[in-house]
Amino acid sequence: MILLLILAGIVLLTILISPVFCRRFHTQGRILALHSLQPKFLDFGAVSTKTLDHVIDGCRSRGLHIGTIEEAIQREDTVAITFDDGYDDILQILPLLGEHRITITVFVPTAFIGKTNSWDNFLLKNKRRHLSEEQIKQFAAAGVEFGSHSHRHRDLSHLQDDAIEEELRRSKNILEALTGREVKYLAYPFGRGDSRVSAIASRLGYQAGIWSSPRVADAFSVGRTPLNRFDTQLTINAKLHPGILSGSEYLKSLIISRFSHLTPLIARFSSLSVSR
Ligand SMILES: [Zn+2]
Repeated sequence: MILLLILAGIVLLTILISPVFCRRFHTQGRILALHSLQPKFLDFGAVSTKTLDHVIDGCRSRGLHIGTIEEAIQREDTVAITFDDGYDDILQILPLLGEHRITITVFVPTAFIGKTNSWDNFLLKNKRRHLSEEQIKQFAAAGVEFGSHSHRHRDLSHLQDDAIEEELRRSKNILEALTGREVKYLAYPFGRGDSRVSAIASRLGYQAGIWSSPRVADAFSVGRTPLNRFDTQLTINAKLHPGILSGSEYLKSLIISRFSHLTPLIARFSSLSVSR
């Protein structure tokens, strides 16, 4: 009985707060944050391509266009799909881009191009390979936009100014040389940035800093909505369109992004380093 009352209270609270949070959710620019398309044991950040199908279906049913980050910031009818870390398992969606006339943005930590990840596999040993130079060129030729995810995937908020500048300048230069296009955006590794990092990024020519969470710290930054293994068509629709579940999805996104902040902390306490 008590459990039922608690459950009813949670449902009622969710419905009451939804209009407040749902407004914030859908005025941030609908930019979705994904990582790997190869789900592994206890890695709930990686999703299957079915999640992507749900996003495409959810957008199509409401007449939303899937486009670039710039379009999503400027137009209310546009959703941007972004992938952090540049793992090579996202190559499997290359045929979908032309078939559905959509594009994606991929954020790459450039020191790891063609290599295996090392900053987030210290507990589960979920090794993944990053896109190679050739694969990045292949994606770029298909119209995919690339953004910086720093050079070594370090927690930028803990670095000195000159080290931040080195991380951001180097990754921008490498990606622009590979793709022949301007790198406009920076996605903060581990979702950790601050106004100091934003100021340096702005000075280096970045147009915006892209967060992992819908809530951001300053005017230079743009929020994102994370997707994870537990998302269904129902929750994805709530993230795409204002609705009764949008408030709880907003809160869930904030909580999940807080958990991702623990990754560099755990790595620091383990014997492995997050940088190389
Ligand atoms: Zn990352």
